Amino acid sequence: MTISADPKKVKAICFDRVEIKGQNKLAVAKANGAYEFLPTVLKEFTSEKIIAEVKTSGLRGRGGAGFPTGLKWSFVPRNTGKPIYLLCNADEGEPGTFKDRDIMRFDPHLLIEGMIMAGFALGVHDAYIYIRGEFLHEANVLNAAIDEAYAANLLGEHILGSDFSMNLTVHRGAGAYICGEETALIESLEGKPGRPRFKPPFPAVEGYYGCPTVVNNVETLATIPAILKFGGAWHAAIGKPNSTGMKIFSVSGHVNKPGNYEVPMGTSLKTLIEEYCGGLQHGTVPKVIIPGGSSTPWLTAEHYDTPLTYDDMVKAGSFIGSGAIIVMDETADLLALTRRLSHFYAHESCGQCTPCREGAGWLERVLTRIEAGQGQEGDMEVLQDAAQYMAGRTICALAEGAAAPVLSIIRHFPEAVKAGIVGKAA
Ligand code: SF4
Repeated sequence: MTISADPKKVKAICFDRVEIKGQNKLAVAKANGAYEFLPTVLKEFTSEKIIAEVKTSGLRGRGGAGFPTGLKWSFVPRNTGKPIYLLCNADEGEPGTFKDRDIMRFDPHLLIEGMIMAGFALGVHDAYIYIRGEFLHEANVLNAAIDEAYAANLLGEHILGSDFSMNLTVHRGAGAYICGEETALIESLEGKPGRPRFKPPFPAVEGYYGCPTVVNNVETLATIPAILKFGGAWHAAIGKPNSTGMKIFSVSGHVNKPGNYEVPMGTSLKTLIEEYCGGLQHGTVPKVIIPGGSSTPWLTAEHYDTPLTYDDMVKAGSFIGSGAIIVMDETADLLALTRRLSHFYAHESCGQCTPCREGAGWLERVLTRIEAGQGQEGDMEVLQDAAQYMAGRTICALAEGAAAPVLSIIRHFPEAVKAGIVGKAA
């Protein structure tokens, strides 16, 4: 690991070794610092100390919700007599997000090491990586790395001679976006259709097969080895208060160099796009920026200087989400984009909640006729009403995600919708 102990000099945490060739092999990974600090953790750290360090670090879940990781871990009851499970959410289905894939395919041992440390802190004996079904290559890489880790006694019984034993299994999903929602992921892992559950009870108390369960994102778990090695205070000194550490942003759309960039939290959108991504393909200021994956509300040119923190994004009217930044310049067809996203959400709705199942379908149907230039008088109001009534009335946040692009285009670019409304209602 070449991560600096000086928080001001840290260039990367999860991507620290990502460009080293052959890093997926245990020998190469170990030569570059993988598992270096694990013996110390197993020998000298207690569960309480690890959770305290993670709390101090300010690390927030990198999958989308941004819930404080240490706090989540502290909710897990220890004396229920039931096993405690650790599930890594590697479903990564949010349109625009492709960061976890790079951690898994280039540095799988970082994730495995983070899971061993998290499992040790939580008293886990069986852990799973629930990986998006389409990520076959990444699943193969992970399985090969896990095999090597078992052979080296980094997994299995009495890890490195300690009293701690943990198994790790990769489970491939079957292509449902909703399985990225933690309770749907649990249902799917139990062998049922992936449909979200009502909360509470929360998974920390009643999750996988009714047992206490922690579900953490890949990037979150991959940050743990550095936090334990350098300390929670070290991590908290990177980035900004309440948005600490580094964060990987997957940038796509009309930028010259799309890709994954790990930057300190608090870097501005403008800096990320201009200094890291080589600027826009056309023009100087983006027309639309979707900052946290397709389910987050759109930002516009006036938000170009916004720092990438949880709080600043909320102030600007959106969310940091999974860190999938989709940038669109003047050439974007925003109506086509919105209709396409509506199709995605209507297709991916699990159908349990009427506002989501019916609403998403209506959004798609109305947008399809508007895009075809056959919109009817009142369609704008139908879209607005349907989208507004979907949000906050369902089991999970998919409905809100489906409403976000529609409410965004109506709010910021109503003329793009009006252009397709020509006729009178039948
Ligand atoms: Fe299923 Fe949609 Fe309800 Fe979520 S909001 S549980 S996806 S119907």
